[in-house]
Amino acid sequence: MNASEPRSYDGGCTCRFVRYCMSTKPMFVQCCHCRWCQRETGSSFALNALIEAERVQLLWGEVEVINTPSNSGKGQKISRCPKCHIAVWSNYAGGGEAVRFVRVGTLDEPDRLPPDIHIFTASKQPWVVLPPNTPAVEEYYKATELWSTESLERRAAILAARSPQ
Ligand SMILES: [Zn+2]
Ligand SMILES: [Zn+2]
Repeated sequence: MNASEPRSYDGGCTCRFVRYCMSTKPMFVQCCHCRWCQRETGSSFALNALIEAERVQLLWGEVEVINTPSNSGKGQKISRCPKCHIAVWSNYAGGGEAVRFVRVGTLDEPDRLPPDIHIFTASKQPWVVLPPNTPAVEEYYKATELWSTESLERRAAILAARSPQ
């Protein structure tokens, strides 16, 4: 953590059994407008902060990991509060255990993490009007084209740590 980042990011579920802390800012924040995210949130999109799993600490409680189907067909593991069942983060097959998709809406101060990109806008609900200065793509994108240099270095460290298949 450096001087420009004085505070961590705390969050938790609705019943407050689960409390967690992100020790730094995430690598990237994705707003996903796919049908799967719409259904899983019961809303119009999901807002996920992508961060190294080791930078997310459970401060209180525990999570229950639910295997859930995903758009890719490979599934995602959604971590939920075992009492109120609110989802606090997911791990997708692509990022594996090392990358958590923290649900921004569960942070105490979600306003601090607006989207870096809107994805799967092909199924965006038509009343959702996107801001003109945030990148938006019909489906997915290449991290190498949009992530900051610092975030790409963090991503490279995750990939390097992963044992060869
Ligand atoms: Zn709870
Ligand atoms: Zn989605």
